[in-house]
Amino acid sequence: MKIKKLRLSGFKSFVEPAELIIEPGLTGVVGPNGCGKSNLLEAIRWAMGETSSKSLRGGGMEDVIFAGTATRAKRDFAEVTILTESPGEQGPEETEVVRRIERGAGSAYRINGRDVRQRDVALMFADAATGAHSPALVSQGRIAAVIAAKPIERRQMLEEAAGIAGLHVRRREAEQK
Ligand code: ATP
Ligand code: MG
Repeated sequence: MKIKKLRLSGFKSFVEPAELIIEPGLTGVVGPNGCGKSNLLEAIRWAMGETSSKSLRGGGMEDVIFAGTATRAKRDFAEVTILTESPGEQGPEETEVVRRIERGAGSAYRINGRDVRQRDVALMFADAATGAHSPALVSQGRIAAVIAAKPIERRQMLEEAAGIAGLHVRRREAEQK
């Protein structure tokens, strides 16, 4: 699975709607401190179904919504769209995943225009071994965290990398039924 396009609106410092096309090959994001490089990676992780506001450097989930500046009013919602491409039986298949949060109303998810649950989005990416907690996304300070991780945490990282994390989620759910 690869990410072809990102659309952001009202997410952290991305206040105006922005579209980023990710071409094949290596993409670099450069800019001065505080310009939003880490926010971009967090937008991807958030749209993949991240439920920990702490790992998005926020106190609560609504902290991802543009909070306003001295010259700009705050926004009432944040929305991130990820367009992915995966190999299918009849050639490459595109999937559009959207997450939107509104103040006081929580998050809503859509896959190809259909309303889905957080779990559906998280499992879709976990099965492709690219989930929000997978080593496919390495945020600032993460390398040191991997070195310092307890064996059980390191196993979770390896399971995400192997694409089997979704199986554990399904098994836990089956056991609860
Ligand atoms: P560095 O090079 O230091 O790692 P960076 O390019 O990764 O910097 P980020 O951490 O992505 O920068 O961006 C930080 C900026 O995002 C700060 O200016 C912060 O005020 C802004 N920001 C974060 N959350 C919000 C929000 N909810 N509303 C408005 N601005 C926000
Ligand atoms: Mg950064």
